[in-house]
Amino acid sequence: MATLTLKTEEDYIAAYGPTLNYSPAGGWDRGEPDRLVKTHCCFCGVQCGIQLKVKENRVIGFEPWEEFPVNQGKLCPKGVKRYMQNEHPDRLKAPLLRSEQGFEETTWDHALDRTATAIKSIQERYGKDSFAFLGGASMTNEKAYLNGKFARIALETKNIDYNGRLCMVSAGAANKKAFGIDRAANPWSDIPKTDVIILAGTNLAECFPILTDYIWKARDNGAKIIVVDPRITPIARTADLFLPVRPGGDSALCHGILHVMILNGWIDETFISEHTEDWPALKKLVRKFTPAYTEKLTGVPARSIEKCAELWGPAKKSMLLHARGIEHHTKGVENVLSYINLVLATGRIGKEGSGYGTITGQGNGQGGREHGQRCNQLPGGRDINNSAHREEISKFWGIEETALPGEGLTACEIIDAIEAGEIKGLLSISFNPLVSIPDSQRTRKALEKLEFYGAIDFFLNETARYADVVLAGSLQEEDHGTVTNGEGRCIRLNQSVTPPGNALPDWKIICDLADRLGKGRYFDYQDPREMFSELSAASKGGPIDYSGMTYERIESEQGIFWPCPQPEHPGTPRLFEKGQFFHDDGKARFHAFDYRPPAEDVDAEYPLLFTTGRVVSQYLSGTQTRRIGSLVDQYPEPLCEMHPHLAEKLGVEDGDQVRVTTRRGSIDVPAQVVKTIRPDTVFVPYHWPGKKSANLITNRALDPISKIPEFKVCSCRVELVGPHAGGGRKA
Ligand code: SF4
Repeated sequence: MATLTLKTEEDYIAAYGPTLNYSPAGGWDRGEPDRLVKTHCCFCGVQCGIQLKVKENRVIGFEPWEEFPVNQGKLCPKGVKRYMQNEHPDRLKAPLLRSEQGFEETTWDHALDRTATAIKSIQERYGKDSFAFLGGASMTNEKAYLNGKFARIALETKNIDYNGRLCMVSAGAANKKAFGIDRAANPWSDIPKTDVIILAGTNLAECFPILTDYIWKARDNGAKIIVVDPRITPIARTADLFLPVRPGGDSALCHGILHVMILNGWIDETFISEHTEDWPALKKLVRKFTPAYTEKLTGVPARSIEKCAELWGPAKKSMLLHARGIEHHTKGVENVLSYINLVLATGRIGKEGSGYGTITGQGNGQGGREHGQRCNQLPGGRDINNSAHREEISKFWGIEETALPGEGLTACEIIDAIEAGEIKGLLSISFNPLVSIPDSQRTRKALEKLEFYGAIDFFLNETARYADVVLAGSLQEEDHGTVTNGEGRCIRLNQSVTPPGNALPDWKIICDLADRLGKGRYFDYQDPREMFSELSAASKGGPIDYSGMTYERIESEQGIFWPCPQPEHPGTPRLFEKGQFFHDDGKARFHAFDYRPPAEDVDAEYPLLFTTGRVVSQYLSGTQTRRIGSLVDQYPEPLCEMHPHLAEKLGVEDGDQVRVTTRRGSIDVPAQVVKTIRPDTVFVPYHWPGKKSANLITNRALDPISKIPEFKVCSCRVELVGPHAGGGRKA
């Protein structure tokens, strides 16, 4: 089943009919809108404000929303095209049931009855935990809360997790270990006020493009920019210092930088003694990380390590920003903690222009991990293993504490358990594990083993094609609610249109299913507003407190930063301002993990390192962005980036087909020969399915703490397969 990509005038007319007028100036003129709806981009965690133009229940375009402070009207290539997913001809408009002829449309009653019957049958035969639920971090806070409650009360399963397990969990776990709370410490408005910035493992200009503006403002104000990455990504091209770290070398690099800082006295002993714990063990550990030793482990020249310490150590103000490049590792948590060590050692946190932030990848990467859809979490960021937290939430929900399931499996572990025959049924929402989880042949085998699979989604993504029942849910603009961006700012999504045809809002599908499972009394919601009131009340007194927020306040104040524990509380844009951290003793923690190599390192058979990431025009597994023609045109297929030295050694020229092979299998993709990557590393972006999917060959080894897979490094070999697909090599 092919994905339909709209490219030509004929495509558009076939899809939308003659009501759509092609404008030779390069747009699709659908006339004047009936109204403008202030809302937010549906893609990355920056959550730029946008005004959608709506006409006759269709999103026909957009206008900038200049008053929204985060992006002030600016949008990236994905943001300006996001409106084109609405009314796409692939949009699911009715529930589908698998038959011998393929999928057939059916009624909601039939689809929901079939799903509820399958859930009951599987759970009666194999136990409650044999049915799993997988949620997503692009959905609203309301839906994240609902997913967690639905799994624990209606499905009565412990096995619920979400696709943020592939994204931000290493940062989340590290934040809690270091600070006792999981949130960026500063608003992004602090970035232009700083003196030095470390950007670690973040291809910022492609993955979170609008944040680039903040970095450039800082640079215009005199800040020095340090970029750590195996590739010279677009943001690195204008950096003052670029550290070309070997994939997997981040924790060693941080230890080396700290070693130089200690030697030169660029640490804040007073802050360390008054506000932190566990410094002596770290100080002892980094003694051996001399610049020369660190160079051996990381590939970063010793002088560059010293230079980084010289810029970072004595600065008056500094900001650390990082993303998946350091987190997608079997030591993702250790990497993040090693960078946090650099922040705590200087005491530059909790101040204007000084602090720390993880940049969330998914639209609700922050809020999606706060309200209870993680296997170890209850609403308000509570811990499912903490007896006091369990008491609070079970009482709030009106159930016995003993009826509240315990900690379940994480997302990849759920797929493993399906493959092992331990989990027999699955319901997923807005999750495409066949494209997004490593070693996808194993995911495919697991899906084929399921006795029942139900998928809630708005497009028939690659995983949903394995479903027995597909429940046609809602796009972001077809519902309303809240999300929380990468700063910790909770913002309002306003509804622009209603779902088309017989599609339903996601929350309605889940509540209807709960009713059919005999638990309707716990899910008697008429509107997301009621879910928000409940989730904010549930969060009261918890580590993540939204209880002072209302829709009206969020909208009128253009977002509120949590914690916001009372209606009159202004919210908390900057954490730790009084040097108070969220551990019981009020102190932050250093962590001393020695360097360890990746799960798979190079050897004679697989002599190169393989790494993956994003490109600017695509988003996650591409379910939305691979359907928007102009985004596809920008980067139509995955390419294998390699350095000219490596290409010469392999006899490869730009555009040649190459085969990248790991212990999981091979993919054939065109080579892109660039000087912007380490010669020992190749890179392929991961947004595509099928035979060119990068995740066919990535390694599913997990971080022992966060259970994030090691997307960012495994060993591989590369060989020439054939000449440039255009017929012979380029001149
Ligand atoms: Fe959307 Fe992120 Fe681009 Fe902003 S930066 S327009 S939120 S994809």
